[in-house]
Formats: sequence, C-alpha cells, structure tokens
Amino acid sequence: MEQTIEKLILDPPESNVTQGIDVERIREDFPILNQTVYGKTLKYLDNAATTQKPKAVIDTITKYYTTQNANIHRGVYHLSEVSTQAYEGVRVDVKNHINANSTKEIIFVRGTTEGINLVAATYGRQNIKPGDEIIISEMEHHSNIVPWQLLCEEKDAKLRIIPMNDDGELLVDEYAKQINEKTKLVALVYISNSLGTINPVTDFIRLAHENNIPVLLDGAQALPHIKVDMQELDCDFFLFSGHKVFGPTGIGVLYAKESFLEQMTPYQGGGDMIRSVKFEKTTYNDLPHKFEAGTPNIAGVIGLGTALKYVAKIGYENIEKYEKELLCYATNAISSLNSVKIIGTAKKKASVISFTIDNVHPHDAGTILDREGIAIRTGHHCTQPVMDRFKVPATSRASMAFYNTKEEIDALVAGIEKVIKLFA
Ligand code: PMP
Repeated sequence: MEQTIEKLILDPPESNVTQGIDVERIREDFPILNQTVYGKTLKYLDNAATTQKPKAVIDTITKYYTTQNANIHRGVYHLSEVSTQAYEGVRVDVKNHINANSTKEIIFVRGTTEGINLVAATYGRQNIKPGDEIIISEMEHHSNIVPWQLLCEEKDAKLRIIPMNDDGELLVDEYAKQINEKTKLVALVYISNSLGTINPVTDFIRLAHENNIPVLLDGAQALPHIKVDMQELDCDFFLFSGHKVFGPTGIGVLYAKESFLEQMTPYQGGGDMIRSVKFEKTTYNDLPHKFEAGTPNIAGVIGLGTALKYVAKIGYENIEKYEKELLCYATNAISSLNSVKIIGTAKKKASVISFTIDNVHPHDAGTILDREGIAIRTGHHCTQPVMDRFKVPATSRASMAFYNTKEEIDALVAGIEKVIKLFA
C-alpha cells in the first residue's frame, strides 16, 4: 500500500473560498467551543462522531420546554396545537431540505441506526427470501452491516460485499459483477465516516435501478457536508441523524419513497400509528404516522428543524468550499509528517482524515492530544471491516466542520509532532 506525498497533495479550491464563511462569527454561535480543556483552548475535531450545537438549536429546545411543551396530535387545547404545528412544521422543513416529494415520505426515528433497522425489519422481512442477496460495501458503518446480517440469518439470505481499493474507493466494476437476479437490495454509505470517501452513489443507484433493485443510502455523514436531493439521487431509502448535522441527539430521519412505505408493514405498534383498534382487527394510520408509534422525540424534532435552517442559512456551497480548503490544508500538513500515514486517500473526500503514526497506538496519540485540548477520535469508528482492509487495529481520526479553523489544524499537527517525539 504505497502512499506518496505527491499523491496526497490536494489542489486547493480556486476561488477565494472563505468568502462565504466568516468562521470567527460562526464560532460565536457555538458556545461550547469557547472553553479550555487542561488550560488549553478546546479544539473540537470529532465532528464525524457528533457535531456541536449552535445557540439557536439550544434556544429552540429551551423555548419549547419553557413555553410549548404538550403532547402532539391528541389535544384539542392550544398548547397541544402549538406543539403539533411545530412538530409537523419540521416535517415540511425536512422535506424541503432534502427535496423529497411529500411529507408522507419523512419518518422521524431515533437516528440512522434505527432507520436502517426499521427498513430491515419491515421492507427486508417482507421481501427477502431464502437464497436472495443483499449488496453492501466494505466501508459500511456497523449500523449498515449488522441489521442486514440479522436479516440474512433469519431468512437464509446472503450478504455480498463491494470491495475497495487502497485509496478507499469502491470498485464499481466489482459491484456490477455482483448484481444478479438474486439481488434484492443494495445498501450503501454515501460518505464514509472512517475514510471520508464520498462515494459516486448516483452511478451505484443507476446500475441497481436498471436491474429493478431498490437502494438504501446511509446519509449520516452526508447532511453535515453536502447538499442532498432525493429527486437527483433517486434512492429509495435515505437515512440521517440529527446530531451529526448540528441538531440534537435521539432524532433522525428515514426518507423512503411513498410507494415503498405504502407497502411496508408497521415497525412498532402503539399509540398514534393506528386508525382504529379492535380486538378483532386493528387498522393503521396514514403515512407518515403509520411508522411513528408512541410519543415521539418532539423537542428533538423541533431542535432538528432549527439545525437544518441554520445549515441552510450558511449554505452548502459555502460549507463545501470552506471544508475543502480545510481538508487540503490538513492533508498536506499531516501527510508531510514523517511516520504518519493517512488511511483513506480517495479523490473525492469529505473533511475527515484518518491516520496512523508508526509505533504509536492511536489511543496513546488521542490521550496525548487530549492534554493539548485537541478532541479527536481513536478506534475502529464502528467500521471494523475497514480496519481489517487496511490491516490496522485502529486509526486516529480528525473530522472537521465549518466552524473549524486552520489554526486548530496547526495545533493538531504540532500535537502529532509532540506524539512522534515522545515515542521516538
Ligand atoms: N452511518 C455512518 C456513516 C455513521 O457515521 C454513523 C454514526 N457514526 C451511523 C451510521 C450511525 O448513526 P447513529 O449512531 O446516529 O444512529
């Protein structure tokens, strides 16, 4: 696995990329960033694990509990109507944000993990038969592996895995060869959380659809970095988590085409998902409520709405340009360090850099960096097959958001140099 520095030097974007992002101004919106850790300014570089929340999101949740809290869909009184309107209003915001056709296609779930499990437990159970095949890839997060393994065990079906090259790019030709009449579903990650690779998902979707195979996209790492458009992508299922896109934890979205949701059986039974309950027979509510049993995470949904508005206000074009500049800067600096190897060198990448340092366990590196106020993630990042593919037990991962700065990257580089010296 040869890795030359030349190969890693990325072209910085052409225009004056910071034009649209006033990073100092943006950082004022994130109160948590303004603190010290062990006497050092916090440098938060673990955005692929979770993002920080702007004050607007925190204020929305406080306001909700201070002035609007009531259960939704049930009350005839004012407060319940306010709460219901706020909740359902966010469904419209999400629909617009990802350009879905209808609010019926937007199901609120706990996050990407729950959304994938929902699809496996409903669509999967109904449609996968013994001998069928499901295609996933070598770079999936565990949440897009294990639900399919469970389903395959239950149904005596088979998982097929799209391999990747040494840069962490999926091999489209191998994928094309894997598709056959037994293939019943393709489930793919859009942007890899451990490698940063942005997969050419439209090519993968086109090929699947030419063979009448539905496609699920794990969009957990997409929403914070790039504009996603359900009409352009034309995937059949799409998942994301609120907490990765500057919103609260415990809330996420399953988008699915209405035609699929209509034929899917409910995931969980309980309040709100029914039309009428009789001991003889229960009938189910209309979409999207058929898939939202019980009192949902109302405050989470409302916070998510504010988060999406916040991101939209900054603008994906600005975010992409700025983060590309950060990625180039960090890649060039980190790859120039002796004994550091970047894992994941795809041509199209989001602002995620996984790396290893010769003779240093990532956990040791992470602990030393922590003392410098630098928060990065170390471990397998819930992608153990990726670690196996690159023959490493773990990596250190710096993942950046639009509030990160070049100064923070300089601090990271200085921190890595300190680690190298300590272990030399
Ligand atoms: N897929 C990817 C690519 C992820 O990065 C993550 C979170 N690390 C998940 C799925 C799971 O998301 P959640 O834990 O929010 O359900």
